[in-house]
Order: sequence, then structure tokens, then C-alpha cells
Amino acid sequence: MVYSKIYKSSRFIKKYILLLCRYRIFSSCVYNLIKKNMARPIESQLYRELVDSRFIFIERGIIEINEIYNAVKRQYPDLCDDEFTCVHHQNVGIGQSEWKHTVRTALLRCRRIYDNVEFSGRRGYWIFT
Ligand SMILES: [Zn+2]
Repeated sequence: MVYSKIYKSSRFIKKYILLLCRYRIFSSCVYNLIKKNMARPIESQLYRELVDSRFIFIERGIIEINEIYNAVKRQYPDLCDDEFTCVHHQNVGIGQSEWKHTVRTALLRCRRIYDNVEFSGRRGYWIFT
């Protein structure tokens, strides 16, 4: 609950700053810095769909992250834009699509709120029950 409150308020603050930027109160460089860290509507929609789905379309068992990506892409082809690369992890996973980052974020969220999604403890492997 606390997490989601912080998350929501930080989104609100970002939106407010973006609004101020529109009126040229902040420099365009600050604007770009914040803008690039905000999810686009397509990734936001993918996130919502994935969290709502509880990853129920994934095969049950210990599943490797690349298999998860493939299943997500089969399930939501229109929400997986391979052309748009992640701007958040410039050192890790260089050139990886942002939608894959969205999948990992959704997995972390599901692990916290549902019983059927767990991290295996081994990097890149998730358990679906
Ligand atoms: Zn990213």
C-alpha cells in the first residue's frame, strides 16, 4: 500500500513538473530527462494487461525469461514494440526493447501482489503455479 502511494505520488509530481515545463518554467533539458523516464501509453497498457492477467497465459512451472518474453509477444503482439529501446538501463541490457523491461516490472509487481508468480532465486527464471 505504501509502495503504491509513493509510486502514485511520484507519478503525480512528474506530471506536474511536465506541465510546468510546457509553460517553459523549466528548461527543455529537464523536460527531456523526465519525459524519457516515463512509460509511453503502449508500455503502460502492456503493464496493466500483464498485471491484470496474472500471467495466466504462461505455461506453469519454472520458466526462463526469454520464454516469458515470447509468450507475452504471442499474447499481446500489438503492445510489444521491438523498435523502441529501453532508456532506463543504459549499462545493463543495451539495446533491449522497452516492452521487455515492462514485462520484468510487471513480473515484480505480480510477485508482490499474487501467489501464483514467484521469483526462482536464479537470475532470469520465474515460477508460475
Ligand atoms: Zn526501460
